[in-house]
Amino acid sequence: MTANEYIRRQSGRSMDECTNEEIYAGLLSYVKEKAKEKESIQGKKKLYYISAEFLIGKLLSNNLINLGLYDEVKKELEACGKSLAEIEELEPEPSLGNGGLGRLAACFLDSVATLGLNGDGIGLNYHLGLFRQVFENNLQKEVPNPWITPNSWLTRTERTYNIHFGGFSVQSRMYDIDVAGYENRTTKLHLFDVESANESMVHDGIEFDKTKIAENLTLFLYPDDSDENGRLLRVYQQYFMVSNAARLILDECVAKGSSLYDLSDYAVIQINDTHPTMVIPELIRLLMERGLLIGEAIDVVTKTCAYTNHTILAEALEKWPMHFMQKAVPQLVPVIYELNNLVNKKYNDPSVSVINQDNCVCMAHIDIHYGMSVNGVAALHTEILKKTELNHFYKLYPEKFNNKTNGITFRRWLLYCNPQLSAFIEELIGSGFKKDAMELEKLAAYVNDESVLKRLLAIKDARKVILRDYLKKTQNIDVDETSVFDIQVKRLHEYKRQQLNALYVIHKYFEIKSGKKPVRPVTVFFGAKAAPAYIIAKDIIHLILCLSQVIGNDPQVSPYLKVVMVENYNVTLAEKLIPACDISEQISLASKEASGTGNMKFMLNGAVTLGTMDGANVEIAELVGEDNIFTFGESSQTVIDRYGRADYVSRDYYEKDEDLKKAVDFIISDQMKEAGSSEQLERLYNELLNKDWFMTFPDYQDYIAIKDKALEAYEDRNAWAKMMLVNISKAGFFSSDRTIRQYNDEIWKLESMTD
Ligand SMILES: *Cc1c(COP(=O)(O)O)cnc(C)c1O
Repeated sequence: MTANEYIRRQSGRSMDECTNEEIYAGLLSYVKEKAKEKESIQGKKKLYYISAEFLIGKLLSNNLINLGLYDEVKKELEACGKSLAEIEELEPEPSLGNGGLGRLAACFLDSVATLGLNGDGIGLNYHLGLFRQVFENNLQKEVPNPWITPNSWLTRTERTYNIHFGGFSVQSRMYDIDVAGYENRTTKLHLFDVESANESMVHDGIEFDKTKIAENLTLFLYPDDSDENGRLLRVYQQYFMVSNAARLILDECVAKGSSLYDLSDYAVIQINDTHPTMVIPELIRLLMERGLLIGEAIDVVTKTCAYTNHTILAEALEKWPMHFMQKAVPQLVPVIYELNNLVNKKYNDPSVSVINQDNCVCMAHIDIHYGMSVNGVAALHTEILKKTELNHFYKLYPEKFNNKTNGITFRRWLLYCNPQLSAFIEELIGSGFKKDAMELEKLAAYVNDESVLKRLLAIKDARKVILRDYLKKTQNIDVDETSVFDIQVKRLHEYKRQQLNALYVIHKYFEIKSGKKPVRPVTVFFGAKAAPAYIIAKDIIHLILCLSQVIGNDPQVSPYLKVVMVENYNVTLAEKLIPACDISEQISLASKEASGTGNMKFMLNGAVTLGTMDGANVEIAELVGEDNIFTFGESSQTVIDRYGRADYVSRDYYEKDEDLKKAVDFIISDQMKEAGSSEQLERLYNELLNKDWFMTFPDYQDYIAIKDKALEAYEDRNAWAKMMLVNISKAGFFSSDRTIRQYNDEIWKLESMTD
């Protein structure tokens, strides 16, 4: 049955008589049906990928592509004067993630299904998502981001559990989203929810009563944890997620014939960052309820669980006070004490104990002692974990540590988001790259072919026009498509150093004012959400928005330099920004970005990286060679040593460098204060001058020099196009299919089923 026939049967009318809303609803159920017709992946052993976030993006087009229906449906729509692009604008983007970690989980599900591996995702069904970002008076404001509409990708299931907390219990229900593999079978994302959720308790932006757990449990991802009730709510959420997960896993394994002693033959659990860590004590507890002795239960669980570390930022490694556990999940307390006692008996080293001197539970420590694998997410990151951050653990368990460099799904980040480039690649090297990303290397044969290079530039220009029109239509922003598009889009965090980019902008502003005009205008794009309670991050957004206004209103500078801060950066915007990018900004402080995946998406779409030797940038640099990337800044070792000595004084740099001083002082200039608020601008100024924890000043001059070098290189269009081509041709390594194959070969060991 075609989509048109399906819609006619459902509504009694054909597509050309339907509104776009009706077609969207029709296509949604058509695609759901088609996914159900596909065989689901089965097998004795199954992967359970548990994650607090799944940043899946819109699903209509992606599912059409993976189910092999895209071209057909697009043609059907065109035949009756409708456009798929317009219809998919009606689809809300699911708000189930925050940044790279959640997007990684989504890419992984796509690859698991595409490779025919038996594996499901498990997470929570946040009704109001993270938050939607709006700008008011050059400030970020947070409002709820409801995304669950009557027609959604969620399918209500009959699976419910009674989940107990200290003093009360709640009824859960599982909702499913089908995940279609590319030209393969399907798997599932299971999202648990509470029946008693109450969206109407939210007021004044994203405020709500944090103590009414039964009502607020699944309203928001990462509720504000700046007060105790917010932190407690996160513990309730985490336990709710993993208790449901653990029950589902045990039920499924028992149904397949597991005796529970052999659980690891039936299940492998990948713990995505520390948020799902309580699945370990919860599984132990449930196994004991079902008759295992505690030692037996611990052995079984340790063989079944594997942990992925995503950060070396100490403040991001979760530690929960024991009294939180006592209050929220008292049933886990005896298990956690036992896990702690066993570790202390064996190692007698406080730095590796489960409960620390402050009587807090170190979640990562549970994962490492009571899991069979610990992986970092890029080569450099894994080395830093082994050598410094987790060195004590590495010495105890060298065999557990391994690297799995992150990846991205090329279905979404090339085939779907950049059909122009994808079609051109297919014209040159055939369609093999769609299933085997390493075939992109065949593009290297065209590196001196001028007509190919010209076409690449033309595609980039076309994508810049598409972005221009999209931003005009959706955010009323004007951009000049003939300018260089320099883009930094990612969560707002000091370590990612949007503030360094902002200082460059100020430097450039002064340069233009003094008469040194760039040969071609530059547009510096930012897109970033700041955590609601992260004051400095919000101050940096304020700085960027004020800069955008001050420069926009300056007739001397605005023809040459424009700052654009897009509102509510999300997957949908990423899909528009990335194909249009010339220069990909990946400027984290070396050693601090575990991997990055934005860097991979940009590279695949023919942007050239300007970055520090951090995270997966190091691997990008190795692959493309130093002529095809712009690197700068102090090395990770220098940075680690400086933290070790604790002798960084930002003011010294400020006082010795007049150009830097001028840029920093501009933050609190009269013009800036007119555009914004003195309080916030001064707070940021003082932060930089007195702390600058992520060391922007030492890299400032190097950054300016390399960015100017990149802008100069851009003017040799032929040479630039060569760099683009080399970047695309070397991107194959960063396919999440490669990453998932490695997880499977080295950790999960599932059998693969391909059609
Ligand atoms: C890929 C992606 C990220 C991660 O970006 P990094 O630059 O790796 O931090 C964050 N948000 C969205 C919407 C993404 O698509």
